[in-house]
Amino acid sequence: MPELPEVQTIVDDLDRKIKGLTIVNVWTDWPKYFKRSIGGWEAFKKTVKGKKIKKIRRIGKNIIFDLSDDKEILIHQKLTGHLLVGHWQIKNNQPISTEKGLLAEKVNDYIHAIFWLSKNKMMGFSDLRKFGKILMTDKKDFNNLKDLKNIGPDPLTPKFGFNEFKSLISKKRGPIKKILMDQNVVSGIGNIYSDEILFVAKIHPLKKAEKLGDKELKAIFEAAKKILKKAVKLRGASISDYRDTAGKAGRYAEVRLVYQREGEKCPRNCGAANQRLKINGRSAHFCPYCQIYA
Ligand SMILES: [Zn+2]
Repeated sequence: MPELPEVQTIVDDLDRKIKGLTIVNVWTDWPKYFKRSIGGWEAFKKTVKGKKIKKIRRIGKNIIFDLSDDKEILIHQKLTGHLLVGHWQIKNNQPISTEKGLLAEKVNDYIHAIFWLSKNKMMGFSDLRKFGKILMTDKKDFNNLKDLKNIGPDPLTPKFGFNEFKSLISKKRGPIKKILMDQNVVSGIGNIYSDEILFVAKIHPLKKAEKLGDKELKAIFEAAKKILKKAVKLRGASISDYRDTAGKAGRYAEVRLVYQREGEKCPRNCGAANQRLKINGRSAHFCPYCQIYA
């Protein structure tokens, strides 16, 4: 699933490429995406036409489009979704990329929703598993969306400081990896970056949040800012389906430390090999020597 760096890359791309344009039309072969939008797909299609995209921003892993007439669109890419800017033609209810190169590659060719925009631009939603979510709401109801209501602070916001982080984590019980991935504690961190952050902080993923001292919490807090900033700079990690809006892979996967590197040598050269274990059905990757459970 795209995490903070991947979603931020998409948001920055979109803000650069399609901000200020007007939505002319929209198509889908998967109306279920819109089931949480008031009135469903039919109402979405009707209302969205003619709206201008004023700004594109991110809340956690959600992509927000501020539209004219006090409307908001929220898109969550879920497991395999990613937004692309390109050109497509619909033939027999099947979108076909009319551009050669990256956008026509298989990973970018699961287009299940398309927005036609002014100035002959288009935004497509490629989503192999079709778990994505697209909804529209009035601005006045936006902050009450259950998708956003309990979402935790953004770890990359400059005003997010250590004391706030500490108080949020201290309220929780259970393995720190699970707590870091809880979107209601801090937002934007998922399976990849929780592994990377805990490796840098030298904390075992199973270590209980309630047992962490100030020094350990500080190490996690600083590692989170550092790793996420680095991953944004490298335009995210394309380990699975994620690509940027041009269909291009991010570069963080090449420099990742432990995520899906089970059996490989610890990057600290401590002599141990990285291991994998399951926490709540998710895999954690870590160095059993550098990240001692104590
Ligand atoms: Zn090690």
